[in-house]
This record gives sequence, structure tokens and C-alpha cells, in this order.
Amino acid sequence: MPYIQFLGAAGTVTGSKHLISTSQDSSGEQGFQALIDCGLFQGQKEWRERNWQDLPVPAHEIDAVILTHAHLDHCGWIPRLVKQGFRGPIYATAPTIDLCSVVLPDSGHLQEEDAAFYNKKGASKHKPALPLYTLAEAQECQKYFKPVEIETTIELSPELSFRFVRAAHILGSCMAEVTLKTDGISRRLLFTGDIGRVRNSEVAPGKVVHSGPQEGEIADLMVMESTYGNRQHPTNDPRPELAQLISGAVARGGSIIVPAFAVERTQKFIFILKELMESGQIPRIPVFCDSPMGIKAIEIFLKYSDEYTPQAADLIKKFGSPTAWPGFTFAQTPEQSKKINDSHSPSIIISSSGMATGGRILHHLAQRMPDPRNLIIFIGFQAPGTRGAMIKDGASEVKIFGEMIPVRAQVAAIEQFSDHADPPELLEWLWTFKNRPGVTYLVHGEPPASSQLRDLMTKELGWNVQVASYMERVPVN
Ligand SMILES: [Zn+2]
Repeated sequence: MPYIQFLGAAGTVTGSKHLISTSQDSSGEQGFQALIDCGLFQGQKEWRERNWQDLPVPAHEIDAVILTHAHLDHCGWIPRLVKQGFRGPIYATAPTIDLCSVVLPDSGHLQEEDAAFYNKKGASKHKPALPLYTLAEAQECQKYFKPVEIETTIELSPELSFRFVRAAHILGSCMAEVTLKTDGISRRLLFTGDIGRVRNSEVAPGKVVHSGPQEGEIADLMVMESTYGNRQHPTNDPRPELAQLISGAVARGGSIIVPAFAVERTQKFIFILKELMESGQIPRIPVFCDSPMGIKAIEIFLKYSDEYTPQAADLIKKFGSPTAWPGFTFAQTPEQSKKINDSHSPSIIISSSGMATGGRILHHLAQRMPDPRNLIIFIGFQAPGTRGAMIKDGASEVKIFGEMIPVRAQVAAIEQFSDHADPPELLEWLWTFKNRPGVTYLVHGEPPASSQLRDLMTKELGWNVQVASYMERVPVN
């Protein structure tokens, strides 16, 4: 019997990898094997260590990857899969492929930097510490990507086909509607990937993607995300609070540090910042975007301007491109990045990674966190165990580059920028379904979030909902 196996993002929010197999046995030698997403585990060590484990089906036995979007927790294991022998097509939308061409090499670069750091410090039990994959290996895997138009059916095998529909999560993001035909029975499997927010441009300002999630879905089996299963987003406009926070820090001579995911969140935040500054709601101070990947991603965003919401299009019309802005500096090179440290007058520094797990943001945090005049604003989800989560939860010190750094700066979090639907938004979308799926498996959530969403869906919709476990194998019948 065909089956699905949850190889990641089960019991956690990272490492999304779901195997669909039409094979009768676990070797994967007969039948077709497709991976929906191939993401990197991030956050707690217990999960990160799984990036080093082999898949239960050898990489060369996997026939195709269907990629929902370009976030690292969904695509960041692709170079490793290729390194292990995968040679099939990786299907994704054109914007997702463009974003991956930036995100994956950057990830390879970070892996190499980490390994070099551990070797220098002798801090790893592995000698020598090796990168999961290198920048060159990440570039190499780009040739396996195949662009797919939204709502176009792709035949993978006589038994398996799929099409992408809009997910409204980030630029290029999609859900995968998979059709499986075996023994004369046709079944529809829906893999949501991450589900975005729509019809709420006021509460999710700066949103770029203009449509979705796809309404009126039909599914016999659904694999659905549950990141925000136990939390609701605030419904007020975050701009007044943001303006107040920034103005307060500037008044006391402090700088503002914003850890931001390079893809989508950085662009969204820059749009809002530009609006606040141009309209005089915050003082005109230098803004540094210290993220080469964020800068490249902005260029990709500008290339797909037909994806903008009317609000995002209006902002650009009114205030011009976010790449051309007096007082605004992109730090491309490490030297430019280091120069930001010399700036002692108030400035805003946006840098990645968004959960402060690596990247240039660490230098800025190490330098600015001990000063109480400064302000750190979190604008994205912080997975448990990450430095970002510790700082956000009020840690008095955190370890960066092997040293304990005191957190004396003001710490704030603004939740409205989320690109994930919350329970009321998810229910609103689920009510549009044309049928009741036979079973829904919840993935991509911390255990309390997944179980609370399961209870809500069971109560409100009367659906059969189960929380998926890591490595669990479920039949498609
Ligand atoms: Zn995502």
C-alpha cells in the first residue's frame, strides 16, 4: 500500500520533509518516491543533529522533490540530498527557484563558516568538523530545479501527479495537490507547506503576496502546518507601536537591531520602515541592511512585482523602490558589515539570521546587546532553543562565539509581521473546503501548538485530525 512518512517537521517547526512512496516495501526499490520539501533542521541540538542522519530511503532511490517554498526549513537540506546521490528533478515555482539560488549557497557558506569556527576553537567532537555541504555544492544542485507554473499538472509517474496552488505564505510559495492513482482508485493528497495570511492587509502590513491560500480545496488526506496552532496574532496595526519603540531608542541615543529572515521578512520590514520614515513617524536615521542575501532577495522581489498586494504596490509607487533610499545602506562585503560597528550614532540595523542562529546578526548582537540604550526588535517566529527565543524570553545573557554576552538592551517583539495563518484564519480557510478530508495530519508545529489545533479542528469542523510523529509512516488508503 502507498504510504507517507514524516521525515521532518513532526514535533518541531523545522526540517520539513515528507516522503510519498508508492512502493510496497521500505527499500523504495519498487514504485515512485517523491519528497515534499527537503528542509533543514534548525534550533535545538537534538533536532540539528538529524541533519547528519541518512534518510530511510537512499537518496538515489528518491525520484523527485516537490518544493513548496524557499525558506531554509523547507529547502535547506536539498544540497545534502544531492550530495548523497539524488539526481532527480526538483519542482518549484520560478520565484522559489530564484530565491533558492540565493538562499542555498548562503546556507552552504554558513555551514563552511561554522565548521571552520569549530575547527579553530577545537569545539567539536568531530575532528575535523565538516560542513553539511559547501557553498559550491549548494550552487551545483541548482541545475536540478525545474520551474512549474501554478495550477499546471505535472505527471511524475503513471500513478502520481501534482499541481501547485497558491499558499500566500511568501513570494512563490505554494501548496502541493498530489493525485495518487493505484489499484483503480484515485486519491487527492494535499500538502499545505506553510499557510499564509490573506484578507488582512491591515493587520499584516507590508505583505507582498496578493492571493491565496487557495479556497474550495478537496482532499482525501491532508498534511497541514500548525506553527501558530495555539496562538493568535494581534489584530491591531503594528506601525504606531513600532514607531514608538524606534523613536524611544533614538531619543536615548540607542540603535535598533532587527534580526530578520532574509527572505520576505527583511523586504516587508524595509517597506514599512521606509513608509514610517518618509511620512515623518520616525526620525530619519541611517538604516543598514546587513544581509547580502536580503539584498539579492529584494532584487528578486522587484522582478516579480505582479505578485504584490495593492498596498505593497502603493508603497513603492508613493515612496519609490526600497533599494533607492537616502540614508539607506546595503552592506555587501564583510568590510562594509564591520564598518557598521563604527557607527556610534543611532541607526537601524537589519540582519539575518532571523532566529539569531548564525550569520552577521551575531556580530551586531554581541556588540550592541550589553548597552541598555539599544533596542532589539524581533519580527519573526523564534523556534525554542534558538538564541532568538532565549533573548526574546528574557535571558540575562546568551552565548555568542563561545562567550557569554549580557543582554541589557531593551527587547521587544512585534507579532503582526507573521506569514503564518493563526487559528481563526486557518479555520476560515478550512471552512471553504468542498469535502471533509478522511484524515488530516498536523506537522510543522511545536507539540502544544499541534495538539491545540487538532482539538480546535476536531471540535469546530468535526474532522479526523492527528498529530504526526517524527519518522511515523502512515498508509494512504
Ligand atoms: Zn516558510
